[in-house]
Amino acid sequence: MSLVFNQAIENLKPSESIKYIEKAKIMKMEGIDVIGLGGGDPDFPTPKNICDAAYYGMTVAENTHYTLGKGIPALRKKIAAKLNQENGILCTADNILVTPGGKMAIYNAVRAMLNVGDEVLCPEPNWVSYAPIVYSSGGTPVSIGLSFEDDYHLSAALLEAATTDKTKMIIINYPCNPTGRILHEEEALELLDYMKAHPDVVLLSDEVYEKIIYDGNKHISMGKYPEIADRVITVNGFSKCLAMTGWRLGYLAASAEIMKRIGSLWEHMMTCTSGFIQDAGVVALDCHEEMEAMRKSYEERRNAFIGALNQIPKVSCNYPEGAFYAWAKFNIDGMDSYQICNYLLEEAKVVGVPGDAYGLGGSQCMRFSFANSMEDLMEAAKRIDTAIRKL
Ligand code: PMP
Repeated sequence: MSLVFNQAIENLKPSESIKYIEKAKIMKMEGIDVIGLGGGDPDFPTPKNICDAAYYGMTVAENTHYTLGKGIPALRKKIAAKLNQENGILCTADNILVTPGGKMAIYNAVRAMLNVGDEVLCPEPNWVSYAPIVYSSGGTPVSIGLSFEDDYHLSAALLEAATTDKTKMIIINYPCNPTGRILHEEEALELLDYMKAHPDVVLLSDEVYEKIIYDGNKHISMGKYPEIADRVITVNGFSKCLAMTGWRLGYLAASAEIMKRIGSLWEHMMTCTSGFIQDAGVVALDCHEEMEAMRKSYEERRNAFIGALNQIPKVSCNYPEGAFYAWAKFNIDGMDSYQICNYLLEEAKVVGVPGDAYGLGGSQCMRFSFANSMEDLMEAAKRIDTAIRKL
C-alpha cells in the first residue's frame, strides 16, 4: 500500500493501561487466577434511579433523536447551577457543552484551541491520553516532571521554566490520575499567578474525580478565580464519581469566546450527546447520597490497601488524597516499572500499570486501582508481599 498516513497519528504510542488490562483479561480467559487492578472502572453498579431516568427518557419521553447540539437545556442549566454553587465558577447554561464522556470534552477543547506547533504544558505523571490528544491536534506536549520525593508539588517556577513563546495551554488534573494528589490552595495561587503573568495561555482543568476526595479535604476549581476565569476550561463527567463509565457522559464549561470556537468544531464532530443519556444525567446530578456512599467505600479500601502495601519491604505508598488509585514506589535496585509490573503479573498474578506509562516522575512506581472489592485488594496485597520477599 502506498498510502501516506497522518504522521501525528502514526506516532501515537499504544496505551499501556489498556495493554495490561487486556493481558489480564486473556490470562483470566485461560483460567489463570489473576487479580486485575489495572483499569479505572468503578466496581459499583450505576444507581438505579439514574438507569430508570434513561429508560423513561428512551421509552416514555421518546428522547431518541438529535438534541440541541450543546445539550438539553435541563441538563445544561443544572450543570451550570452545580458549577456556580459547588465550584464557585460563574456561568450559565450557555457556557456548558454536554459531551459523550470527559475524554471527548478534552479532545474537543484541545482540538479547538490549538494551532499547529503550539505547546501544551503537562505536569507529569499524568493521564495517558493527554499527550496523544495534544499530538493528534497538531500540538506538542511539554512534559514537566514532578517528583515522588517532593509529593508531586506543582509550582509557578516549574511552569515558567517550561514556558516558551509557543506555550498555549496547560493541562492539569486534580484529583490526579495516577498520583491521587489534590490541588492545594498554595499551589492554586501559584498557578493563578502564572496565569496572570501569561494572558495568552489557556488552562484546561480536568476534574473528573472531583467527588472522590478523602480526609475531609476540599476540591479547588481554578475556574473560580475571576481574573483568569475566561481562560479556564473546566472538564468534568459522570464516569468516575457515579460509576457511569459505560454511559459516556461528560461536559465542559468555558467562556463565551472559547465556547464559540469549541461549538463550531462540535457541530461537525459529534452533533450532540444521546438524549436519554442526558435525561439520566439530570437525575445523576442529584445523586449526592449515592456518590457519598461510593466515596466512603473507596476511603475504607484506600486505608486498608495502602496500609497493607506499606507493610511490604521496599514498597512505599502515600495515602492518595483523592481518586481511587494506589501509586506505590518499589525501591528495588535494577528493576524499572515495566520489569516490576511484568514480575508482579507473572509471579503474583496481580495486574497494575507501570508508572513510566504516565510520563516523567513515574520511575519504579506502579498504579493499582482500588475501585475493586476489599477481598481482591487484600488478596492482591498478600500476593505482592510474597512475590517481593522472593527477590
Ligand atoms: N480524565 C482522567 C484523568 C481520566 O482518568 C479519565 C478516564 N480514565 C478521563 C478523563 C475520561 O473519562 P470519561 O471519558 O469516561 O468521562
